Amino acid sequence: MSLSEKSIKEFQRIFKEKYGKEYTYDEAEEAGNNLAGFYLLLYKFHIEDLKKQEKLKEFPKGYSFMDGKVYNCGICGNRIQDEQLWYDKWGSKCLPCQEAINKKIISGSVCNNHDSWYSMFDFEHYFKLKSVTVRSLVKKGVLKARITGGRCYVFLIKENKDTLPPKSLLQSRSIQISEDTFRMEQWYEFQNPSEVIKNYKILQYLSF
Ligand SMILES: [Zn+2]
Repeated sequence: MSLSEKSIKEFQRIFKEKYGKEYTYDEAEEAGNNLAGFYLLLYKFHIEDLKKQEKLKEFPKGYSFMDGKVYNCGICGNRIQDEQLWYDKWGSKCLPCQEAINKKIISGSVCNNHDSWYSMFDFEHYFKLKSVTVRSLVKKGVLKARITGGRCYVFLIKENKDTLPPKSLLQSRSIQISEDTFRMEQWYEFQNPSEVIKNYKILQYLSF
């Protein structure tokens, strides 16, 4: 798909007026096409999503896609495909995570509400804590975890209220380092952790 000459000129005009940036015709063509391609992709994903949801009316308990494509489990993040995948109103999951839901070890909402829990990856991402350390905190009883048959750890915030802060306190920010370059800064790089999470026990185990 490529934009018409009229759209490219419009793109040039908007950038000049709104952002004071003057694109050459070629630059505007490239940037405009990239942007249009991005939105087209979002639109395709949205349509695919609607179709999947529609099919749930026929199979309310869920189904496998069997389309040969690779997806990620919405809980453990593992790559899954065809019969390894189960899709229902909570999203796509691998079979061990689905089984943990069926056995009520975790609730299905874990799959689409990532703000309600921490994963092992989150401990590394937000606190720079390795999984070995996190597992030892579980053994010591500092952290309470739900563990699936696939050895995926789910740390519900409501079960670790005094220890784990809501993720809304740990938001990163984007800073501009040159005209076209941005960098993400983690919450602890521009704020004092001793202040931000002073009410949460996890602070004692952080090394930054
Ligand atoms: Zn999984």
